[in-house]
Amino acid sequence: MAGQVATAQAERLAELIRESSSTVALTGAGISVPSGIPDFRSPGEGLWEKVDPMEVAHIDAFRRDPAKFWSFYRPRFAMLGDKEPNDAHRALAELERRGLLEAVITQNIDQLHRKAGSERVIEVHGSIRTSSCQWCGAQFAQEDVEGLFDAGGAARCSSCSGPVKPDVVLFGELLPSDAMAEAETLAAEADLMLCVGSSLEVYPVAGLPSVTLGRGGRIAVITKGPTPFDDDAAVRMDGDVVGDLDAVLAAVHGEVVP
Ligand code: ZN
Repeated sequence: MAGQVATAQAERLAELIRESSSTVALTGAGISVPSGIPDFRSPGEGLWEKVDPMEVAHIDAFRRDPAKFWSFYRPRFAMLGDKEPNDAHRALAELERRGLLEAVITQNIDQLHRKAGSERVIEVHGSIRTSSCQWCGAQFAQEDVEGLFDAGGAARCSSCSGPVKPDVVLFGELLPSDAMAEAETLAAEADLMLCVGSSLEVYPVAGLPSVTLGRGGRIAVITKGPTPFDDDAAVRMDGDVVGDLDAVLAAVHGEVVP
């Protein structure tokens, strides 16, 4: 029974995707959980279990004590760098390849959409791909940051010795304005937004579905747990993101969904 409902929802969403002239995806931590990256908002999860993210992942914490900040972030970055995309990431990349998806707007910093083959990825919380010197602006690739650490455990710029910070948005920082502007334009032009693995509670990103809805577009919500947009969703799926997107992709292909 549950399978039949899921199938009907997948078929319905596939139909909306085929009819839509502009579809965008908005993804959050939930799409990377099946890749082994815990969502820090889930209590008792992994690296965030013993620390308060507002303490360690705050821009003030970085400014106060870069070495302490990096003592937390260095292993986390190494962990993220080793992770692989899952079939939910791949399904979105496949939709883009088929001309059925404009872009992925993501809150995730893990680069898994890019690794899965998505071309147009708007990383509104930045990404671990680069880190930057806070004094001179020099930018360092992820694989080069490991060579920048001083004896005290802080990453230091190779030209001016300034503190080097990952190009991810920390608590207390503004979101990158270029990325947010692009995301808002995409949301306004979309007649379908696929919201995947996000509780849609963290602003300003959580305002993007409202932009699409306000312009007469539709939204689909594919995530575990409730969201503030459940009543507005043309399609609501709350199984696991991998199974749900596989079913949608199969339905888009016109295959029989088991
Ligand atoms: Zn520098």
